[in-house]
Amino acid sequence: MNEVRSTSLTDALAAWPRVSLGHFPTPLDEAPRLSSRLGVRVLIKRDDQTGLALGGNKVRKLEFLLADALSQGADTIVTTGGSQSNHARLAAAACRRLGLNCYLVLDRGVHPEAQGNLLLDHLFGATVLLIESADPTVAAEEMQALAGTLEAEGRRPYIIPRGGSIPPGATGYAAMVVELLAQLESLRLRATHIYLGTGSCGTHAGTLAGVVASEAGFAVQGVSVSRPETLQREKVVQLANDTLARLRLPRAVQPEQALVDDRFRGPGYGFTTPATLEAIELAAKDEALVLDPVYTGKAMAGLIAHAREGRLSPDDIVVFVHTGGAPALFAYHAEVAEALRAPA
Ligand SMILES: *Cc1c(COP(=O)(O)O)cnc(C)c1O
Repeated sequence: MNEVRSTSLTDALAAWPRVSLGHFPTPLDEAPRLSSRLGVRVLIKRDDQTGLALGGNKVRKLEFLLADALSQGADTIVTTGGSQSNHARLAAAACRRLGLNCYLVLDRGVHPEAQGNLLLDHLFGATVLLIESADPTVAAEEMQALAGTLEAEGRRPYIIPRGGSIPPGATGYAAMVVELLAQLESLRLRATHIYLGTGSCGTHAGTLAGVVASEAGFAVQGVSVSRPETLQREKVVQLANDTLARLRLPRAVQPEQALVDDRFRGPGYGFTTPATLEAIELAAKDEALVLDPVYTGKAMAGLIAHAREGRLSPDDIVVFVHTGGAPALFAYHAEVAEALRAPA
């Protein structure tokens, strides 16, 4: 068993406001066929089943982010991402639940069709501004300008940066660690590794903060979906430590604890790769898991490669965090169908 030293973390989390948006705890499922294929026991933390609007990791972040927004009297959320952003879709959905207005500043990305997440953004009645530039600083400026206009009109906007990866958002993943430790304890299991896709860093940083705060002792292995390793590690360490500071926990994440493998990101964010498509197919055929080409397929490609490279031993127990993303699969239907040699 992982010794549960999560009491002080639980207390620290309770000091922050949280709105209920999802269904928790999410299941922790065995994956027996995938485990025997990889030669290591793999459990799947089903954060694709967080309940709100097709689920995903952003629900945990939004519970703390939107509580922060409400505590500041906000009536409008402004956020950003790519056109197939799961964060944007879930922000739009959460706003419907809380009666908030939602503005999304989205770069066109690889699949700007009204499919997958973008279709759902429209369905949830968000105001969508599609911009040409994929430069995040341009989107951030657009958000500031938009918030200024909304304020001048008498609204009270709250800006959520890309992926919700600021300390309130990352706090949601520190809370996930408490939930996971309780599940492992009731199964009398001692996990050795957590694998997750890492993009805007909040999921990775929050998880690492939670692991350090609870002395859970897992290695938290991020698989980068976009940035090179060095940059990603710096961001993760900074945000993990900012999150621990927000929680007023006298702990620090050390640089060597931020593990990132950047070999699976391909040409960059939103571009899929043969290894990603292979991972999507294996997870579907072995375990009926629906992974996506942007995040979870890359994360699973990383786990598969580490197992094949002998970096995991048969004694290890891996928790793969399924962070969601299934809607994007449908925006990428042509790439997926081609890999499966199915008619598109
Ligand atoms: C956003 C997202 C991630 C990555 O989380 P970050 O906190 O941005 O690093 C992983 N998987 C899915 C499906 C996501 O939508």
